Amino acid sequence: MKLVFATNNLNKLSEIRDLVPTGIEILSLRDINCNEELPETNPTLEGNALQKAKYIFDNYGFNCFSDDTGLEIDALNGEPGVYSARYAGEDCKSEDNMNFVLEKLEGINNRTAKFRTVIALIVDGKETLFEGECKGRMTKIKSGVDGFGYDPIFIPNGYQLTFAEMNKVEKGVISHRGKAIKRLVGFLY
Ligand code: IMP
Repeated sequence: MKLVFATNNLNKLSEIRDLVPTGIEILSLRDINCNEELPETNPTLEGNALQKAKYIFDNYGFNCFSDDTGLEIDALNGEPGVYSARYAGEDCKSEDNMNFVLEKLEGINNRTAKFRTVIALIVDGKETLFEGECKGRMTKIKSGVDGFGYDPIFIPNGYQLTFAEMNKVEKGVISHRGKAIKRLVGFLY
């Protein structure tokens, strides 16, 4: 079957393509000639994931899915959460977001946090949500060059390496997005 992954994030696309069986062909937005920014104006991960998937289904007619992910830091009362992409301000880069988090956590010993992903799948108009989370802790410095977003400052529980020090396959086995996509694949098969 063919499914459009409604994201402009090439890192996410590559992570997901490694995780789905060969029977599912993942198309990118570019593959369907969708070049616009997808709307993402909801106050929840669930709402944003559904909004992006619905946009593609309604405007392009493809079966599709979309993910929305947030980093929830306990000492910051669950921030940045749904605002993870623009925590340091509109149009900020991952470096700015990471610096902002590290500044906010300066002098704070409780570093526990989790990533939470919600995936919204739409097949023939039927909507289904899947969730995955990965618990861990925020580091004090950035380490590693792989991955994207907050990966250089997040160490998953049971590991001594940040996500950015792991390869895609290692990250996929334990990550929030990996868990959510495994649930989606289990639902389809
Ligand atoms: P999005 O809205 O799902 O694209 O993600 C919100 C923010 O979380 C973006 O700044 C991403 O860079 C960041 N993010 C999403 N997934 C991950 C991840 O797997 N690792 C690190 N950061 C992530």
